[in-house]
Amino acid sequence: KSNKKSSTNSNIVVAVRKRPMSEKERKKLDHDSVSCYHPKVWIHSAKFKVDGITKYLTHTGFQLDHAFGEESTTDQIYLATTMPLVDHVIHTKGRATVFCYGQTGSGKTHTMSGIQQILAHDLYEELKDHGANTEIKLAFFELYGGFIQDLLHDRKRCKLLEDGKGEVNITGLQEVSAPTADSFLQVIENGHSQRTTRTTEANDTSSRSHAICQVFLRDSDSGKLKGKLTLVDLAGSERGSDTKSHNSQRRSESAEINTSLLSLKECIRALGQKNAHVPYRGSKLTLILKDCFSPDSKTTMIAMVSPGASATDHSLNTLRYADRIKEQ
Ligand code: ADP
Ligand code: MG
Repeated sequence: KSNKKSSTNSNIVVAVRKRPMSEKERKKLDHDSVSCYHPKVWIHSAKFKVDGITKYLTHTGFQLDHAFGEESTTDQIYLATTMPLVDHVIHTKGRATVFCYGQTGSGKTHTMSGIQQILAHDLYEELKDHGANTEIKLAFFELYGGFIQDLLHDRKRCKLLEDGKGEVNITGLQEVSAPTADSFLQVIENGHSQRTTRTTEANDTSSRSHAICQVFLRDSDSGKLKGKLTLVDLAGSERGSDTKSHNSQRRSESAEINTSLLSLKECIRALGQKNAHVPYRGSKLTLILKDCFSPDSKTTMIAMVSPGASATDHSLNTLRYADRIKEQ
């Protein structure tokens, strides 16, 4: 069965990327259960009887704007998902956002880092021709357990404030100048290393946090904002359902992740509908991203799926989430 007609709203683009089978999955003889035939993706899931004999196989199809198989390169993904946003940001002084969504291990960080690498070169090339008097500033922070931590300044805690005019500000968050593509990459790299240094198998905070990288285009004289591109590596989507944990901290983290991913979906959906109210106050994540949901903003969601049969439930949930964003 296939889903309903996708929306034609070009401000929202939804793509799926399937990563290749890993060595570990091959060793465990996990089956490849995902097929991509652009722009469709199919999840093949087996239902087992109690005695272990396959009873039947179901195929669930989704049609999105793009479906990238395991052979796809980050270059192809950049061209389809991010390059149009760079144009939008530079030429209309607009806002644009790229999200990577999916379960832990599905390739969110891999894809986002790849996009950032290519972006560094593309952005400065574009600015050479179309960016007189423009300077690039970067902020990179994590939202973890309701706290904002600046990844470019030793995880300094920052505060989220909404002023009387409805402007959302993160006080204490410091932007860093990136005058060249190389310095851009260096800053991003510093941010990523802040994320991973605390990560161990047992205490993997990166899967429970959203990492938000903001690229500001500012007027080099006045500092006035001339465009903004936001790149969001979301918390593992499976974390939102981990609500039965015996650890109360885990439970509240899971509840928070669940709320943030659900309200993100509603905010993006509202962006695709005329005169819809954007429920950005539904979570800290969406409050932070408030200006990403203004009517002239463009959004791309890349839904990541792991290929293994052991991941099909999560992959189906991921694709239902992605599908719902496009549905009118
Ligand atoms: P996530 O951030 O969603 O938890 P990662 O990006 O860390 O997942 O990816 C998990 C593992 O799979 C990493 O070792 C990563 O290098 C690998 N991987 C992810 N996507 C790809 C891909 N498209 N090609 C090759 N390896 C990939
Ligand atoms: Mg990750």
